[in-house]
Amino acid sequence: MSSLAISSVLQGGYQHPLSRSWQAKRTLTKGMLMYPIFITDDPNARVEIPSLPGQCRWGVNKLEEFIGPLVKKGLQSVILFGVPLNCAKDDKGTPADDPEGPVILAIKKLRALYPALYIATDVCLCEYTSHGHCGVLHDDGTINSTPSAARIAEVALSYAQAGAHCVAPSDMMDGRIKAIKRALIDAGLGNKCTLMSYSAKFASSLYGPFRDAAGSAPSFGDRKCYQLPPQAKGLARRAIQRDVVEGADIIMVKPALPYLDIIQDAAQLAPDHPLACYQVSGEYAMVVAGARAGVYDLRTMAFETCESFLRAGCTLILTYFTPQFLDWLDE
Ligand SMILES: [Zn+2]
Repeated sequence: MSSLAISSVLQGGYQHPLSRSWQAKRTLTKGMLMYPIFITDDPNARVEIPSLPGQCRWGVNKLEEFIGPLVKKGLQSVILFGVPLNCAKDDKGTPADDPEGPVILAIKKLRALYPALYIATDVCLCEYTSHGHCGVLHDDGTINSTPSAARIAEVALSYAQAGAHCVAPSDMMDGRIKAIKRALIDAGLGNKCTLMSYSAKFASSLYGPFRDAAGSAPSFGDRKCYQLPPQAKGLARRAIQRDVVEGADIIMVKPALPYLDIIQDAAQLAPDHPLACYQVSGEYAMVVAGARAGVYDLRTMAFETCESFLRAGCTLILTYFTPQFLDWLDE
């Protein structure tokens, strides 16, 4: 007779691969993956980004060769980031909604090529402002909130009018969710465009490769007065609750892996909303670098990170691993 108490024995419940899979509340599927892509203003560009292995800046004319094979493998959504290299930047980010700019051209092109592909667009000013900050500034260099939210809303509306299924403001200006939702409704797009808020976006060290990719480092100062301090759980909770009240349709936490507690908080604070997380450039680069250094197997670690996001409560994951997962999930 064993001396183990009945309540001590758990292994019987997960001794088989199938019974192990039943332990998950949610299983990773292709539909949960949104692929971040960088669109630049040279229409024929395909430029590798050294700090973001395997990712490129793409020109509009190259989108078919880039996205077509992924759609065939089951890609269902993308989020577009504009990387203008030849535009005249100014203090309000005027090129952000240039009808001939890379994002608007890419929205139209992808809608025409792949009618079933869900197209989200990041909305921010930093790639388009002369100072590289995400909003409109006072003379002393601090954020001027009201015109910032108004300008972000204008840009979001332009992307929605160009055909984006979803606009996703990453700027972290106060009041922008309300301003965007109002602008969408007033333009008759309230029921045609999803508003995904980067609600809890932290001032993280993990954005470095993205800044290389997007050329969006600020020309002075940093973003600590609008992105959240990494140690701020309470502020993150308030930001999530505010964005729910202001009309966000999807809540996002960014970055993901160091902020699993915030994802779990968001799942509890906004239980009736889809919950997204962004496995950001530095997280992706870290996972790839660890695998290259022989610390772990790439695929196993990529699954472990994304499954931790699901366990914490996510229903949508923005990740640069999307193309690989489209293969891995078929195996
Ligand atoms: Zn920005």
